Amino acid sequence: MTFPSEALGSAEDAPPASALPEAERPDKPEEACGIFGLYAPDEDVARLAYFGLFALQHRGQESAGIATFDASGSHCYKHMGLVSQVFDDHILKDLTGHIAVGHTRYSTTGSSHVCNAQPAVIPTRLGDLALAHNGNLVNAAELRDQLLQRNHDLVTTTDSEMIAFALAEAVNEGYSWVVAAEKAFNRCQGAFSLVIGTPNGLIGARDHQGIRPLVLGVLGHEIPQVGAPAPYVLASETCALDIIGATYLRDIQPGELVWITDRGLSAYQWAEATQRKLCVFEMIYFSRPDSIVNDESLYSYRRRLGHQLAKESPAEVDLIMAVPDSGVPAAIGFSQQSGIPYAEGLIKNRYVGRTFIQPTQSMREVGIRMKLNPLRDVLEGKRVLIVDDSIVRGTTSRKIVQALRDAGALEVHMRISSPPVTHPCFYGIDTDSQDQLIAATKSTAEIAQQINVDSLAYLSWEGMLEATGQDPTSFCSACFTGNYPVDIPEPFKRSKLKFEIQEALAT
Ligand code: SF4
Repeated sequence: MTFPSEALGSAEDAPPASALPEAERPDKPEEACGIFGLYAPDEDVARLAYFGLFALQHRGQESAGIATFDASGSHCYKHMGLVSQVFDDHILKDLTGHIAVGHTRYSTTGSSHVCNAQPAVIPTRLGDLALAHNGNLVNAAELRDQLLQRNHDLVTTTDSEMIAFALAEAVNEGYSWVVAAEKAFNRCQGAFSLVIGTPNGLIGARDHQGIRPLVLGVLGHEIPQVGAPAPYVLASETCALDIIGATYLRDIQPGELVWITDRGLSAYQWAEATQRKLCVFEMIYFSRPDSIVNDESLYSYRRRLGHQLAKESPAEVDLIMAVPDSGVPAAIGFSQQSGIPYAEGLIKNRYVGRTFIQPTQSMREVGIRMKLNPLRDVLEGKRVLIVDDSIVRGTTSRKIVQALRDAGALEVHMRISSPPVTHPCFYGIDTDSQDQLIAATKSTAEIAQQINVDSLAYLSWEGMLEATGQDPTSFCSACFTGNYPVDIPEPFKRSKLKFEIQEALAT
């Protein structure tokens, strides 16, 4: 059973971030989605999926959905809003079965509309499939044309639905789920981590470079025998395993597909293993600090970024503080390395989310204080160094600096625990087009002047990669370098690389 989206209540669709007035637009790259999958006979899979999605809420706040499978078929509920707004006990009780697929969405391809909420549920000759996707296809337009030519009824504007239709098409040609998935994935270019529910089992897969994350775990603490059935879990991040008491087993590898059924887990390479190119922004900002990558929490990594930043760009100040929450680990690291005390100078209102009620003009002028309020008794008369993880357009940074000065800070220095963002992302992260990225058009000195700081420094690209403690070539860092690991087709590229194109035309 699939609930038609039109029948899901009367809540208005949230405006996409790009449609918000300048003052309300997030001044950070926005994560694309969180995905979750579970194969667990004898468990309340919908409730576990709900909590898994709850832990992944930071990856997308526009819509949420869960699909389950039992002997009678599929059941799906999805709607606009936060996980806690979309689901209640009554809805979860109707989502019965032993397989669950869940999704939290931030729109990058396709508008922020309920029809684009996931999982995408598509009928096939073998029963429904329910697909949850994190990433962006760079050949979505081509794939869409192919599918439309074959008279598929595309009902959404997302690239995720195209993957679902490509898979359904292969199944309807007579292939098994696994072979059909391999065929569908080979038609896709770009970044995709996927969890796909079917009546027979659960699929987890990553694109051939593993740009977006996907981890495998098992409910409880018993490590399953190879080939033995077990309650396997798939999730964007390990924090979603922790919340439901699951144990992390391993990452799904680039180009890998896992097929989980009542016979256990089978793993295949749908694409030849190539070098991993995990998004380095997952390490810096997107993933939760309590998530684990390569046996280490991202909190520890981000603290090391702060150590490195303090070595590269010290300053004579009285206190180190962070832009909460994402700047906190790096600020603590900076403080540890420099020996300068760390203090909380900004208090965050944790209940501000994207709201359907726009602030009035006078409230907009108050600006940043809806989210962050400075502590005068900490800041007054002090030389302050504030650490943030990134600057995208610089609009928020300017307001924060002004708020600190208004609260009595004598000097405000800023340090950024990543290099300047000079290029847009095409792999599932919503960054502005290049001409809106402040570091693409201005020098560090010009940015310092614009945001009104006494000094500004970014972490070096080499320092950021060295701090990972991993092979530096195993990351995508294209938004800092412009070296994209998957080629971007020209029309798609043109939509975001306005500045480079204008520059080229001018010379
Ligand atoms: S371009 Fe930047 S944000 Fe996008 S995947 Fe690469 S590192 Fe991540």
